Amino acid sequence: MAKQKLKELVINRDWCKGCKICIHFCPENVLELDDKDKAIPVRPEDCICCRLCEYRCPDLAIEIFTE
Ligand code: SF4
Ligand code: SF4
Repeated sequence: MAKQKLKELVINRDWCKGCKICIHFCPENVLELDDKDKAIPVRPEDCICCRLCEYRCPDLAIEIFTE
């Protein structure tokens, strides 16, 4: 299977409650909390599109779009 490339990593800021689950599960340290305690992709270029953040977010706040 061809390697997937990230097109967009969308985080719904209204739904994110800053629990950090996505940050802990991301194997590539792509995500961090900003100063409002919302998850943001700080290193999107490192994303391997494993979708762990999308699957594990209890509030369904993350969507991964691939090319
Ligand atoms: S897992 Fe979801 S709710 Fe928790 S910090 Fe990440 S995006 Fe926000
Ligand atoms: S898809 Fe995987 S590598 Fe990309 S941000 Fe989510 S957990 Fe990290």
